Amino acid sequence: MSYLFIAHDLAVVRAVSTRVAVMYAGSVVEIAPKAQIYADPQHPYSRALLDAVPRVDPDFVRHPVVAGEVPSLLDPPTGCSFHPRCPFTMERCRIEPPLLKESGPGRRLACHLSST
Ligand code: SF4
Repeated sequence: MSYLFIAHDLAVVRAVSTRVAVMYAGSVVEIAPKAQIYADPQHPYSRALLDAVPRVDPDFVRHPVVAGEVPSLLDPPTGCSFHPRCPFTMERCRIEPPLLKESGPGRRLACHLSST
């Protein structure tokens, strides 16, 4: 039996999940076993989400802050829907939507960074 559990609280997700899918603007941008997502998030939005979790470790190095708002699904951006907010946007990101492709054993990622 499988459950699909949808939440915004990453602590709860970590407690109840075996695999985690990260969604942005209605699409899965990364999916991987829980341990891999939490230890090594590959998508810039996954990194931003995990960086937003409060920590007591003063040596923790955060990724670049993601500014802006989630786009309207009625008028989504061209190319990668995360490109207006992504700190790594390239010209290709504005034109071509990234496909969700295998990025390692049991992992899938939708980001052009994985093919550069
Ligand atoms: S495809 Fe481009 S804009 Fe989208 S997450 Fe990857 S680097 Fe950022």
